[in-house]
Amino acid sequence: MTRARTLLDSVPTGLWISNQSVAARSGQTFEVADPATGDLLTSVADGDADDALAALDTAVEAGPEWAATAPRTRGEILRAAFEEVTARADDFALLMTLEMGKILPESRGEVTYGAEFLRWFSEEAVRIHGRTATAPAGNGQILVVKQPVGPALAITPWNFPLAMGTRKIGPALAAGCPILVKPAEDTPLTMLLLAQVFADAGLPPGVLSVLPTTRAAEVSEALMSDPRLRKVSFTGSTGVGRQLIRQSADQILRTSMELGGNAPFIVFDDADLDTAVDGAMAAKMRNGGEACTAANRILVQNGIRPAFTEALAARIADMAVGPGYDDASALGPIINAKQLDSVAGLVDEAVAAGAIVHTGGTTLDRPGHFYAPTVLSDVPEQCAITRQEIFGPVAVISGFDTEDEAVARANATEYGLAAYFYTRDLDRVARVSAALEYGMVGVNRGVISDAAAPFGGIKASGLGVEGGSEGIEEYLNTKYIALT
Ligand code: ADP
Repeated sequence: MTRARTLLDSVPTGLWISNQSVAARSGQTFEVADPATGDLLTSVADGDADDALAALDTAVEAGPEWAATAPRTRGEILRAAFEEVTARADDFALLMTLEMGKILPESRGEVTYGAEFLRWFSEEAVRIHGRTATAPAGNGQILVVKQPVGPALAITPWNFPLAMGTRKIGPALAAGCPILVKPAEDTPLTMLLLAQVFADAGLPPGVLSVLPTTRAAEVSEALMSDPRLRKVSFTGSTGVGRQLIRQSADQILRTSMELGGNAPFIVFDDADLDTAVDGAMAAKMRNGGEACTAANRILVQNGIRPAFTEALAARIADMAVGPGYDDASALGPIINAKQLDSVAGLVDEAVAAGAIVHTGGTTLDRPGHFYAPTVLSDVPEQCAITRQEIFGPVAVISGFDTEDEAVARANATEYGLAAYFYTRDLDRVARVSAALEYGMVGVNRGVISDAAAPFGGIKASGLGVEGGSEGIEEYLNTKYIALT
Protein backbone atom coordinates (compact mmCIF):
# COMPACT_ATOMS: atom_id res chain seq x y z
CA MET A 1 0.00 0.00 0.00
CA THR A 2 2.95 2.40 -0.22
CA ARG A 3 1.77 3.51 -3.62
CA ALA A 4 -1.63 4.28 -2.14
CA ARG A 5 -0.02 6.28 0.68
CA THR A 6 2.15 8.28 -1.70
CA LEU A 7 -0.87 9.01 -3.87
CA LEU A 8 -3.06 10.02 -0.91
CA ASP A 9 -0.32 12.31 0.37
CA SER A 10 -0.21 14.06 -3.01
CA VAL A 11 -3.95 14.80 -3.27
CA PRO A 12 -5.04 18.29 -2.13
CA THR A 13 -7.19 17.99 0.98
CA GLY A 14 -8.36 21.59 1.41
CA LEU A 15 -11.26 23.36 -0.23
CA TRP A 16 -10.31 24.12 -3.81
CA ILE A 17 -10.90 27.84 -4.33
CA SER A 18 -9.06 30.15 -6.75
CA ASN A 19 -6.85 27.28 -7.89
CA GLN A 20 -5.57 26.80 -4.39
CA SER A 21 -6.13 24.27 -1.67
CA VAL A 22 -7.26 26.20 1.40
CA ALA A 23 -8.40 25.26 4.89
CA ALA A 24 -12.03 25.74 5.86
CA ARG A 25 -12.55 29.06 7.69
CA SER A 26 -13.75 27.11 10.70
CA GLY A 27 -10.57 25.01 10.57
CA GLN A 28 -12.74 21.90 10.63
CA THR A 29 -12.00 18.71 8.73
CA PHE A 30 -13.74 15.37 8.23
CA GLU A 31 -12.40 11.88 7.71
CA VAL A 32 -12.47 9.91 4.48
CA ALA A 33 -12.40 6.15 5.06
CA ASP A 34 -11.61 3.06 3.00
CA PRO A 35 -14.92 1.16 2.71
CA ALA A 36 -13.00 -2.12 2.40
CA THR A 37 -11.48 -1.79 5.87
CA GLY A 38 -13.05 1.19 7.60
CA ASP A 39 -9.51 2.61 7.96
CA LEU A 40 -8.88 6.33 7.73
CA LEU A 41 -7.47 7.38 4.36
CA THR A 42 -7.09 11.09 5.01
CA SER A 43 -8.89 14.11 6.41
CA VAL A 44 -10.41 16.77 4.22
CA ALA A 45 -11.46 20.38 4.89
CA ASP A 46 -15.10 20.65 5.94
CA GLY A 47 -16.51 23.72 4.20
CA ASP A 48 -19.50 25.68 5.44
CA ALA A 49 -21.83 28.32 4.00
CA ASP A 50 -19.24 31.10 4.36
CA ASP A 51 -16.64 29.08 2.50
CA ALA A 52 -19.17 28.33 -0.22
CA LEU A 53 -20.06 32.00 -0.63
CA ALA A 54 -16.36 32.88 -0.78
CA ALA A 55 -16.01 30.34 -3.60
CA LEU A 56 -19.05 31.84 -5.33
CA ASP A 57 -17.36 35.27 -5.13
CA THR A 58 -14.42 33.87 -7.11
CA ALA A 59 -16.76 32.27 -9.65
CA VAL A 60 -18.68 35.50 -10.14
CA GLU A 61 -15.43 37.39 -10.59
CA ALA A 62 -14.01 34.89 -13.08
CA GLY A 63 -17.28 34.36 -14.94
CA PRO A 64 -17.35 37.19 -17.50
CA GLU A 65 -13.78 36.64 -18.65
CA TRP A 66 -14.35 32.89 -18.93
CA ALA A 67 -17.54 33.45 -20.93
CA ALA A 68 -15.58 35.77 -23.24
CA THR A 69 -12.66 33.35 -23.61
CA ALA A 70 -12.51 31.95 -27.11
CA PRO A 71 -14.45 28.68 -27.36
CA ARG A 72 -11.35 27.14 -28.95
CA THR A 73 -9.30 28.10 -25.89
CA ARG A 74 -11.94 26.72 -23.52
CA GLY A 75 -11.92 23.53 -25.55
CA GLU A 76 -8.15 23.30 -25.47
CA ILE A 77 -8.07 23.57 -21.68
CA LEU A 78 -10.65 20.79 -21.46
CA ARG A 79 -8.60 18.75 -23.88
CA ALA A 80 -5.43 19.29 -21.84
CA ALA A 81 -7.29 18.11 -18.73
CA PHE A 82 -8.50 15.04 -20.66
CA GLU A 83 -4.90 14.24 -21.65
CA GLU A 84 -3.66 14.61 -18.09
CA VAL A 85 -6.45 12.51 -16.53
CA THR A 86 -5.71 9.84 -19.13
CA ALA A 87 -1.96 10.02 -18.47
CA ARG A 88 -2.68 9.67 -14.76
CA ALA A 89 -5.31 6.96 -15.21
CA ASP A 90 -3.63 4.67 -12.68
CA ASP A 91 -3.67 7.38 -10.01
CA PHE A 92 -7.30 8.29 -10.60
CA ALA A 93 -8.30 4.62 -10.66
CA LEU A 94 -6.50 3.78 -7.43
CA LEU A 95 -7.90 6.87 -5.73
CA MET A 96 -11.46 5.91 -6.67
CA THR A 97 -10.97 2.35 -5.51
CA LEU A 98 -9.57 3.62 -2.21
CA GLU A 99 -12.36 6.05 -1.41
CA MET A 100 -15.30 4.33 -3.10
CA GLY A 101 -14.39 0.64 -3.07
CA LYS A 102 -15.09 -0.52 -6.63
CA ILE A 103 -12.66 -3.01 -8.12
CA LEU A 104 -9.68 -1.55 -9.96
CA PRO A 105 -10.71 -2.68 -13.48
CA GLU A 106 -14.00 -0.82 -12.97
CA SER A 107 -12.18 2.24 -11.67
CA ARG A 108 -10.00 2.17 -14.79
CA GLY A 109 -13.17 1.91 -16.85
CA GLU A 110 -14.54 4.94 -15.06
CA VAL A 111 -11.38 6.92 -15.79
CA THR A 112 -11.87 6.23 -19.49
CA TYR A 113 -15.58 7.05 -19.32
CA GLY A 114 -15.18 10.06 -17.03
CA ALA A 115 -12.29 11.55 -19.01
CA GLU A 116 -14.32 11.15 -22.20
CA PHE A 117 -16.72 13.87 -21.04
CA LEU A 118 -13.75 16.25 -20.99
CA ARG A 119 -12.71 15.27 -24.52
CA TRP A 120 -16.28 15.25 -25.83
CA PHE A 121 -17.07 18.70 -24.45
CA SER A 122 -13.68 20.04 -25.55
CA GLU A 123 -15.04 19.31 -29.02
CA GLU A 124 -18.52 20.66 -28.30
CA ALA A 125 -17.15 24.02 -27.07
CA VAL A 126 -16.70 25.10 -30.69
CA ARG A 127 -20.11 23.80 -31.80
CA ILE A 128 -22.46 26.07 -29.86
CA HIS A 129 -24.93 27.06 -32.53
CA GLY A 130 -27.80 29.52 -32.67
CA ARG A 131 -29.91 30.15 -35.78
CA THR A 132 -31.31 32.89 -37.95
CA ALA A 133 -34.62 33.18 -39.75
CA THR A 134 -36.55 35.76 -41.68
CA ALA A 135 -39.60 36.82 -39.69
CA PRO A 136 -42.73 35.34 -41.36
CA ALA A 137 -44.18 38.85 -41.82
CA GLY A 138 -41.06 39.77 -43.75
CA ASN A 139 -40.37 42.70 -41.48
CA GLY A 140 -37.12 41.64 -39.92
CA GLN A 141 -34.61 38.98 -38.98
CA ILE A 142 -34.83 36.61 -36.06
CA LEU A 143 -31.40 35.99 -34.59
CA VAL A 144 -31.10 33.27 -31.92
CA VAL A 145 -27.89 33.13 -29.91
CA LYS A 146 -26.70 30.97 -27.02
CA GLN A 147 -25.05 32.41 -23.95
CA PRO A 148 -23.66 30.72 -20.83
CA VAL A 149 -26.17 30.57 -17.98
CA GLY A 150 -23.58 31.81 -15.48
CA PRO A 151 -22.24 30.36 -12.22
CA ALA A 152 -23.39 26.77 -11.71
CA LEU A 153 -23.46 24.46 -8.70
CA ALA A 154 -22.87 20.74 -9.21
CA ILE A 155 -23.81 18.32 -6.44
CA THR A 156 -22.46 14.84 -7.10
CA PRO A 157 -22.88 11.37 -5.56
CA TRP A 158 -20.25 8.90 -4.40
CA ASN A 159 -20.89 6.02 -6.81
CA PHE A 160 -18.92 7.43 -9.77
CA PRO A 161 -16.55 9.92 -8.13
CA LEU A 162 -14.94 11.07 -11.38
CA ALA A 163 -17.59 10.70 -14.07
CA MET A 164 -20.42 12.34 -12.12
CA GLY A 165 -18.18 15.40 -11.84
CA THR A 166 -16.80 15.49 -15.37
CA ARG A 167 -20.21 15.15 -16.99
CA LYS A 168 -21.16 18.43 -15.30
CA ILE A 169 -17.79 20.21 -15.38
CA GLY A 170 -17.20 19.37 -19.07
CA PRO A 171 -20.33 21.03 -20.47
CA ALA A 172 -20.24 23.92 -17.97
CA LEU A 173 -16.70 24.89 -18.91
CA ALA A 174 -17.33 24.33 -22.62
CA ALA A 175 -20.38 26.59 -22.45
CA GLY A 176 -18.44 29.31 -20.64
CA CYS A 177 -19.83 28.88 -17.11
CA PRO A 178 -17.83 28.83 -13.90
CA ILE A 179 -18.79 25.86 -11.73
CA LEU A 180 -18.65 24.95 -8.05
CA VAL A 181 -18.64 21.24 -7.29
CA LYS A 182 -19.88 19.81 -4.02
CA PRO A 183 -18.68 16.21 -4.11
CA ALA A 184 -20.21 13.49 -1.94
CA GLU A 185 -18.84 13.36 1.57
CA ASP A 186 -17.70 9.74 1.15
CA THR A 187 -15.63 10.46 -1.98
CA PRO A 188 -14.24 14.00 -2.16
CA LEU A 189 -10.68 13.09 -3.14
CA THR A 190 -11.16 12.34 -6.84
CA MET A 191 -12.70 15.78 -7.52
CA LEU A 192 -9.91 17.48 -5.56
CA LEU A 193 -7.28 15.75 -7.69
CA LEU A 194 -9.22 16.67 -10.83
CA ALA A 195 -9.32 20.33 -9.76
CA GLN A 196 -5.54 20.31 -9.47
CA VAL A 197 -5.29 18.77 -12.94
CA PHE A 198 -7.47 21.58 -14.32
CA ALA A 199 -5.31 24.24 -12.70
CA ASP A 200 -2.22 22.64 -14.27
CA ALA A 201 -4.07 22.57 -17.60
CA GLY A 202 -4.41 26.35 -17.50
CA LEU A 203 -7.93 26.85 -16.18
CA PRO A 204 -8.08 30.39 -14.72
CA PRO A 205 -8.66 30.78 -10.96
CA GLY A 206 -12.30 30.92 -9.88
CA VAL A 207 -13.68 28.97 -12.86
CA LEU A 208 -13.71 25.66 -10.96
CA SER A 209 -14.12 25.31 -7.20
CA VAL A 210 -14.48 22.10 -5.20
CA LEU A 211 -16.24 22.26 -1.84
CA PRO A 212 -16.00 19.15 0.31
CA THR A 213 -18.39 19.37 3.23
CA THR A 214 -20.40 17.35 5.70
CA ARG A 215 -23.03 20.12 5.60
CA ALA A 216 -24.48 19.54 2.15
CA ALA A 217 -27.84 21.15 2.86
CA GLU A 218 -26.32 24.23 4.51
CA VAL A 219 -23.83 24.77 1.68
CA SER A 220 -26.30 24.23 -1.12
CA GLU A 221 -28.93 26.41 0.56
CA ALA A 222 -26.47 29.28 0.97
CA LEU A 223 -25.47 29.07 -2.68
CA MET A 224 -28.94 28.53 -4.08
CA SER A 225 -30.43 31.47 -2.22
CA ASP A 226 -27.74 33.79 -3.61
CA PRO A 227 -29.07 35.44 -6.78
CA ARG A 228 -25.63 35.28 -8.39
CA LEU A 229 -25.86 31.50 -8.74
CA ARG A 230 -27.83 30.69 -11.90
CA LYS A 231 -27.87 26.93 -12.21
CA VAL A 232 -27.88 23.76 -10.16
CA SER A 233 -27.07 20.33 -11.54
CA PHE A 234 -27.66 17.44 -9.17
CA THR A 235 -27.09 13.69 -9.34
CA GLY A 236 -28.43 11.69 -6.42
CA SER A 237 -31.57 10.44 -4.79
CA THR A 238 -35.05 11.51 -5.86
CA GLY A 239 -35.84 12.72 -2.33
CA VAL A 240 -32.97 15.20 -2.28
CA GLY A 241 -33.70 16.14 -5.90
CA ARG A 242 -37.28 17.09 -5.00
CA GLN A 243 -35.98 19.24 -2.17
CA LEU A 244 -33.50 20.98 -4.47
CA ILE A 245 -36.16 21.63 -7.12
CA ARG A 246 -38.31 23.28 -4.42
CA GLN A 247 -35.34 25.33 -3.24
CA SER A 248 -34.47 26.35 -6.77
CA ALA A 249 -37.85 28.08 -7.06
CA ASP A 250 -36.75 31.09 -5.00
CA GLN A 251 -34.12 32.28 -7.45
CA ILE A 252 -35.74 30.55 -10.49
CA LEU A 253 -32.61 28.53 -11.12
CA ARG A 254 -32.01 26.42 -14.18
CA THR A 255 -31.94 22.83 -12.91
CA SER A 256 -30.66 19.50 -14.17
CA MET A 257 -31.66 16.51 -12.09
CA GLU A 258 -30.30 12.99 -12.49
CA LEU A 259 -32.28 11.11 -9.86
CA GLY A 260 -33.07 7.57 -8.84
CA GLY A 261 -34.01 4.66 -11.06
CA ASN A 262 -35.78 1.32 -10.82
CA ALA A 263 -34.47 -0.21 -14.03
CA PRO A 264 -36.28 -3.21 -15.49
CA PHE A 265 -34.11 -5.77 -17.29
CA ILE A 266 -36.41 -7.86 -19.50
CA VAL A 267 -35.40 -11.14 -21.09
CA PHE A 268 -37.77 -12.59 -23.67
CA ASP A 269 -37.89 -16.30 -24.51
CA ASP A 270 -36.28 -15.67 -27.90
CA ALA A 271 -33.20 -13.95 -26.41
CA ASP A 272 -29.75 -15.45 -26.70
CA LEU A 273 -29.27 -16.88 -23.21
CA ASP A 274 -25.51 -16.30 -22.91
CA THR A 275 -25.75 -12.73 -24.18
CA ALA A 276 -28.60 -12.01 -21.77
CA VAL A 277 -26.71 -13.46 -18.80
CA ASP A 278 -23.60 -11.44 -19.72
CA GLY A 279 -25.77 -8.34 -19.99
CA ALA A 280 -27.43 -9.00 -16.65
CA MET A 281 -24.03 -9.40 -14.99
CA ALA A 282 -22.99 -6.02 -16.34
CA ALA A 283 -26.30 -4.26 -15.69
CA LYS A 284 -26.57 -5.67 -12.17
CA MET A 285 -23.09 -6.22 -10.81
CA ARG A 286 -21.04 -3.47 -12.45
CA ASN A 287 -20.05 -0.96 -9.77
CA GLY A 288 -21.30 -3.44 -7.15
CA GLY A 289 -24.86 -2.65 -8.20
CA GLU A 290 -24.34 0.89 -6.93
CA ALA A 291 -25.60 2.69 -10.02
CA CYS A 292 -28.85 4.47 -10.78
CA THR A 293 -28.94 2.54 -14.06
CA ALA A 294 -28.43 -0.84 -12.32
CA ALA A 295 -30.93 -3.58 -13.21
CA ASN A 296 -33.28 -3.40 -10.24
CA ARG A 297 -35.94 -5.78 -11.51
CA ILE A 298 -34.96 -8.70 -13.73
CA LEU A 299 -38.09 -9.82 -15.57
CA VAL A 300 -37.68 -13.11 -17.44
CA GLN A 301 -40.22 -14.78 -19.70
CA ASN A 302 -41.26 -18.09 -18.15
CA GLY A 303 -39.95 -20.30 -20.97
CA ILE A 304 -36.34 -19.19 -20.47
CA ARG A 305 -36.59 -18.32 -16.79
CA PRO A 306 -35.30 -21.57 -15.20
CA ALA A 307 -32.22 -21.69 -17.46
CA PHE A 308 -31.55 -17.97 -17.07
CA THR A 309 -31.90 -18.05 -13.28
CA GLU A 310 -29.58 -21.03 -12.98
CA ALA A 311 -26.94 -19.48 -15.23
CA LEU A 312 -27.05 -16.06 -13.60
CA ALA A 313 -26.99 -17.51 -10.07
CA ALA A 314 -23.94 -19.61 -11.00
CA ARG A 315 -22.09 -16.57 -12.32
CA ILE A 316 -22.98 -14.44 -9.31
CA ALA A 317 -22.16 -17.17 -6.79
CA ASP A 318 -18.74 -17.35 -8.41
CA MET A 319 -17.82 -13.72 -7.77
CA ALA A 320 -14.88 -13.33 -5.40
CA VAL A 321 -15.58 -10.63 -2.83
CA GLY A 322 -12.80 -8.50 -1.40
CA PRO A 323 -11.12 -5.10 -1.42
CA GLY A 324 -11.25 -3.44 -4.81
CA TYR A 325 -7.47 -3.09 -4.92
CA ASP A 326 -6.92 -6.89 -4.62
CA ASP A 327 -6.52 -8.38 -8.08
CA ALA A 328 -8.59 -11.42 -7.11
CA SER A 329 -11.70 -9.40 -6.25
CA ALA A 330 -14.64 -9.34 -8.63
CA LEU A 331 -16.85 -7.41 -6.19
CA GLY A 332 -15.76 -4.74 -3.74
CA PRO A 333 -17.39 -3.36 -0.59
CA ILE A 334 -20.55 -1.30 -0.30
CA ILE A 335 -19.79 2.39 0.25
CA ASN A 336 -20.72 2.71 3.93
CA ALA A 337 -22.50 1.11 6.88
CA LYS A 338 -25.77 2.93 6.20
CA GLN A 339 -25.94 1.65 2.63
CA LEU A 340 -24.98 -1.86 3.74
CA ASP A 341 -27.81 -1.83 6.30
CA SER A 342 -30.23 -0.64 3.64
CA VAL A 343 -29.31 -3.51 1.28
CA ALA A 344 -29.43 -6.08 4.08
CA GLY A 345 -32.79 -4.72 5.26
CA LEU A 346 -34.35 -5.02 1.79
CA VAL A 347 -33.15 -8.61 1.39
CA ASP A 348 -34.15 -9.65 4.92
CA GLU A 349 -37.67 -8.33 4.41
CA ALA A 350 -38.01 -10.21 1.11
CA VAL A 351 -36.68 -13.45 2.59
CA ALA A 352 -38.97 -13.19 5.63
CA ALA A 353 -41.88 -12.79 3.21
CA GLY A 354 -40.95 -16.01 1.39
CA ALA A 355 -38.45 -15.06 -1.34
CA ILE A 356 -36.14 -17.84 -2.55
CA VAL A 357 -32.41 -17.21 -2.07
CA HIS A 358 -30.41 -18.80 -4.91
CA THR A 359 -27.08 -17.50 -3.60
CA GLY A 360 -25.86 -14.99 -1.03
CA GLY A 361 -28.37 -13.21 1.16
CA THR A 362 -26.01 -12.23 3.97
CA THR A 363 -23.71 -9.51 5.19
CA LEU A 364 -20.13 -10.80 5.24
CA ASP A 365 -18.47 -11.11 8.62
CA ARG A 366 -15.27 -9.22 7.96
CA PRO A 367 -13.97 -5.65 8.34
CA GLY A 368 -15.41 -3.10 5.94
CA HIS A 369 -18.90 -3.09 4.47
CA PHE A 370 -19.32 -6.24 2.42
CA TYR A 371 -22.49 -7.93 1.24
CA ALA A 372 -22.54 -11.32 -0.46
CA PRO A 373 -23.50 -11.21 -4.14
CA THR A 374 -27.10 -12.36 -4.06
CA VAL A 375 -29.82 -13.74 -6.31
CA LEU A 376 -33.45 -13.77 -5.17
CA SER A 377 -36.60 -14.95 -6.89
CA ASP A 378 -40.28 -15.32 -6.00
CA VAL A 379 -40.26 -12.06 -4.06
CA PRO A 380 -43.79 -11.13 -2.94
CA GLU A 381 -45.04 -7.98 -4.64
CA GLN A 382 -45.51 -6.07 -1.37
CA CYS A 383 -41.78 -6.15 -0.51
CA ALA A 384 -39.91 -2.86 -0.74
CA ILE A 385 -37.13 -4.46 -2.82
CA THR A 386 -39.53 -4.67 -5.78
CA ARG A 387 -40.05 -0.90 -5.77
CA GLN A 388 -36.99 0.67 -4.18
CA GLU A 389 -33.57 1.23 -5.69
CA ILE A 390 -31.41 -1.58 -4.20
CA PHE A 391 -27.99 0.00 -4.81
CA GLY A 392 -26.16 -3.21 -3.97
CA PRO A 393 -25.13 -6.59 -5.42
CA VAL A 394 -28.57 -8.16 -5.25
CA ALA A 395 -30.33 -9.52 -8.34
CA VAL A 396 -34.10 -9.96 -8.08
CA ILE A 397 -35.63 -12.22 -10.73
CA SER A 398 -39.31 -12.63 -11.50
CA GLY A 399 -41.23 -14.31 -14.33
CA PHE A 400 -43.77 -13.10 -16.87
CA ASP A 401 -45.85 -14.65 -19.65
CA THR A 402 -46.57 -12.04 -22.33
CA GLU A 403 -44.88 -9.03 -23.88
CA ASP A 404 -47.76 -6.77 -22.79
CA GLU A 405 -47.37 -7.95 -19.22
CA ALA A 406 -43.60 -7.32 -19.30
CA VAL A 407 -44.03 -3.78 -20.62
CA ALA A 408 -46.84 -2.99 -18.17
CA ARG A 409 -44.80 -4.20 -15.23
CA ALA A 410 -41.67 -2.42 -16.45
CA ASN A 411 -43.58 0.86 -16.63
CA ALA A 412 -45.39 0.39 -13.30
CA THR A 413 -43.02 2.62 -11.34
CA GLU A 414 -42.66 6.32 -10.65
CA TYR A 415 -39.14 6.12 -12.11
CA GLY A 416 -38.09 6.34 -15.74
CA LEU A 417 -34.30 6.31 -16.06
CA ALA A 418 -32.92 3.22 -17.82
CA ALA A 419 -34.54 0.03 -19.10
CA TYR A 420 -33.02 -2.99 -20.84
CA PHE A 421 -34.48 -5.80 -22.89
CA TYR A 422 -33.22 -8.86 -24.75
CA THR A 423 -34.87 -10.34 -27.82
CA ARG A 424 -33.91 -11.41 -31.34
CA ASP A 425 -37.23 -10.33 -32.83
CA LEU A 426 -36.86 -7.05 -34.73
CA ASP A 427 -40.57 -6.19 -34.60
CA ARG A 428 -40.48 -6.62 -30.85
CA VAL A 429 -37.42 -4.36 -30.63
CA ALA A 430 -39.43 -1.60 -32.29
CA ARG A 431 -42.58 -2.17 -30.19
CA VAL A 432 -40.95 -2.51 -26.80
CA SER A 433 -38.41 0.28 -27.18
CA ALA A 434 -41.25 2.63 -28.12
CA ALA A 435 -43.49 1.47 -25.26
CA LEU A 436 -40.97 1.68 -22.41
CA GLU A 437 -41.46 4.92 -20.48
CA TYR A 438 -37.79 5.54 -19.89
CA GLY A 439 -35.21 8.12 -20.87
CA MET A 440 -32.76 5.41 -21.95
CA VAL A 441 -33.30 1.94 -23.34
CA GLY A 442 -30.64 -0.72 -23.89
CA VAL A 443 -31.47 -3.33 -26.54
CA ASN A 444 -29.49 -6.54 -26.14
CA ARG A 445 -26.91 -4.71 -24.07
CA GLY A 446 -26.48 -4.16 -20.37
CA VAL A 447 -24.30 -1.05 -20.40
CA ILE A 448 -25.53 2.03 -22.23
CA SER A 449 -23.60 5.04 -20.89
CA ASP A 450 -21.65 6.97 -23.49
CA ALA A 451 -20.36 10.55 -23.29
CA ALA A 452 -21.66 11.10 -26.82
CA ALA A 453 -25.24 10.11 -25.90
CA PRO A 454 -27.82 12.05 -23.87
CA PHE A 455 -28.03 10.48 -20.42
CA GLY A 456 -31.15 11.30 -18.45
CA GLY A 457 -34.43 10.12 -17.07
CA ILE A 458 -38.11 11.03 -17.19
CA LYS A 459 -40.84 10.97 -14.51
CA ALA A 460 -39.30 10.88 -11.01
CA SER A 461 -35.89 10.07 -12.48
CA GLY A 462 -35.14 13.64 -13.40
CA LEU A 463 -34.99 16.63 -15.65
CA GLY A 464 -32.54 17.30 -18.45
CA VAL A 465 -29.72 15.24 -19.93
CA GLU A 466 -25.96 15.02 -19.63
CA GLY A 467 -23.64 14.14 -22.47
CA GLY A 468 -24.24 14.15 -26.20
CA SER A 469 -24.75 17.29 -28.18
CA GLU A 470 -27.77 17.92 -25.94
CA GLY A 471 -25.76 18.07 -22.69
CA ILE A 472 -24.25 21.50 -23.28
CA GLU A 473 -27.71 23.06 -23.71
CA GLU A 474 -28.25 22.64 -19.97
CA TYR A 475 -25.61 25.34 -19.46
CA LEU A 476 -26.79 27.72 -22.17
CA ASN A 477 -29.52 30.35 -22.27
CA THR A 478 -31.29 31.11 -25.51
CA LYS A 479 -31.43 34.78 -26.46
CA TYR A 480 -33.59 36.16 -29.27
CA ILE A 481 -32.39 39.31 -30.99
CA ALA A 482 -34.83 41.01 -33.33
CA LEU A 483 -33.10 42.72 -36.25
CA THR A 484 -34.61 44.90 -38.88
P1 ADP B 1 -27.05 8.91 -1.89
O1 ADP B 1 -28.18 8.27 -1.20
O2 ADP B 1 -26.60 8.26 -3.12
O3 ADP B 1 -25.92 9.32 -0.99
P2 ADP B 1 -27.93 11.61 -1.90
O4 ADP B 1 -29.00 12.18 -2.74
O5 ADP B 1 -28.13 11.56 -0.43
O6 ADP B 1 -27.67 10.21 -2.51
O7 ADP B 1 -26.54 12.35 -2.15
C1 ADP B 1 -26.11 12.83 -3.37
C2 ADP B 1 -25.41 14.14 -3.15
O8 ADP B 1 -26.33 15.06 -2.60
C3 ADP B 1 -24.25 14.09 -2.16
O9 ADP B 1 -23.24 14.98 -2.60
C4 ADP B 1 -24.87 14.59 -0.89
O10 ADP B 1 -23.95 15.17 0.01
C5 ADP B 1 -25.81 15.64 -1.42
N1 ADP B 1 -26.94 15.96 -0.53
C6 ADP B 1 -27.57 15.14 0.35
N2 ADP B 1 -28.55 15.80 0.99
C7 ADP B 1 -28.57 17.06 0.48
C8 ADP B 1 -29.37 18.23 0.72
N3 ADP B 1 -30.36 18.23 1.60
N4 ADP B 1 -29.08 19.35 0.01
C9 ADP B 1 -28.09 19.35 -0.90
N5 ADP B 1 -27.31 18.29 -1.16
C10 ADP B 1 -27.53 17.16 -0.48
